[in-house]
Amino acid sequence: MSDNLEDSVINLKLLIDEAKKKVVFAEAGKDFVDILLSFSPMGTIVRLLGMHQTVAIGCFNNIYGSVASMGMNNFTTEASKQMLLYPGSLNQEKCQKIKLKIDDSEATKCYMCPMFVRSGQCSKRYSNFNTSRCSCGNLMNEVIQFQGEGGQGNGVEGGVFVRSAHTSFIITDDLKVEVNSVGSTFNVLKDLGYADCDKLVEMILDVNLQEVATLLESLFTSDTPLTDTFLKKKSSYGMERIHQTQSPAYGVDGEESKADQMITLNAYVRKKEGNIIYVECGNDFVDLLFTFLAMPLESVWGISGNGIILGCIGNLCKSFKELGVDSGGEASGFKCVLPHYYKCQKQLLDVVTTHKPPTYYHYVSFSVNHFREYSLSENSGKRLVYDWDELVRVTSIDPKSDSAESSGFVKRGMRFMVTDELIIAPSNSTSTIGMLKDKHTRLDEVEVRVISMKKEEVIRLLAASLVTSSALSTGLLGMEPASTSTPGSRFRKKPKIET
Ligand SMILES: [Zn+2]
Repeated sequence: MSDNLEDSVINLKLLIDEAKKKVVFAEAGKDFVDILLSFSPMGTIVRLLGMHQTVAIGCFNNIYGSVASMGMNNFTTEASKQMLLYPGSLNQEKCQKIKLKIDDSEATKCYMCPMFVRSGQCSKRYSNFNTSRCSCGNLMNEVIQFQGEGGQGNGVEGGVFVRSAHTSFIITDDLKVEVNSVGSTFNVLKDLGYADCDKLVEMILDVNLQEVATLLESLFTSDTPLTDTFLKKKSSYGMERIHQTQSPAYGVDGEESKADQMITLNAYVRKKEGNIIYVECGNDFVDLLFTFLAMPLESVWGISGNGIILGCIGNLCKSFKELGVDSGGEASGFKCVLPHYYKCQKQLLDVVTTHKPPTYYHYVSFSVNHFREYSLSENSGKRLVYDWDELVRVTSIDPKSDSAESSGFVKRGMRFMVTDELIIAPSNSTSTIGMLKDKHTRLDEVEVRVISMKKEEVIRLLAASLVTSSALSTGLLGMEPASTSTPGSRFRKKPKIET
């Protein structure tokens, strides 16, 4: 937990139905709404939930756990593993300004080789990770200080994500957020069936970090997160998880996938039951699964075509869209934009794109008997440059390959095994035998099927990963979820089965 903002206090006004011991709605300022928006990306959510409580979000915990337990020799670089365990986001800088921040990860920095100015052998490059190596052989571990850095703050007044002119919001117990007005208050009360306010009382409280952590957990596990968090009722567990596999939202784009935009897997399928025990695959599929961790929650929800219901996530994401909240990235469409260093060869088959890496200008000034250096980002405007200044244009390297070319997270040419629950491990004969033993499966009960994945299958897999514990069978073969933590889970429509 962050301690720099420990003294920060956020006020929340709750309207409570005393008879039902339930929060009717909360009245909050931008600071509280900002907190709700700061829960992202997926890998960070899994890490934070793991730290406080154990709540499984579909198969995401398994993907995260696989990264954590996989040996460094399977990854292209140290940075590849690091960026998956502590995912960066385009919002990271903004998130540092959140009043109650449960995510303790630091904003991404830029590093250069310490010999950059003195040695002629250095590449004119920077890395966002201090584990990258310069062409001269040194670690690039000197932080670049930018001139005029942190100047234009999105002041507390303006809100970090919420930029609207409104200062007060109404949040229902199932996390629908609306601008506070007489009309909206009236409608919310009427919708909930209150004819008058006789039995309702107001309560004002200061929100603390522990409550923010509980709230995050309740988002995924409860229909009534505010009641659970602030009235300590703890989970109604009437939670609904619905997974609807038709028409992924991304389909609107219409363009056909190119031939190289395809991933092929060998699936080991149980003949009788028809479910996938595991798939054997190359680095491309593992890169794709690992990228899930870097995706913001609202992008996962948006790309899945709103076909999933998970706790109150849908209400929250919908509200932010309606409020026109600037949640960073160009998440307005159904694409998800990640920081440039997440670029992989098969960029999630076009579902995910990456930001253009920024270019910096490094000035070395030898004026008056001492030299000084400073860096400027590309868009920081004009600047007076003297004749004796040396200006160097510095571009990014891919910290996954220590060069300009983009590489994946795991080494090329390796083979991996991925179970239905998305536990990922390097493939070898011992692991295969162990797996069959584990699943009590005889060889003649298993058949191999080749599965080709295009954009559409990726989207289905992403949705299934969020709400089921059998992501491969559900996402790729359209099977009913094998087991979910809730009995209420159901399918709305059975998709066509692929062979
Ligand atoms: Zn160097």
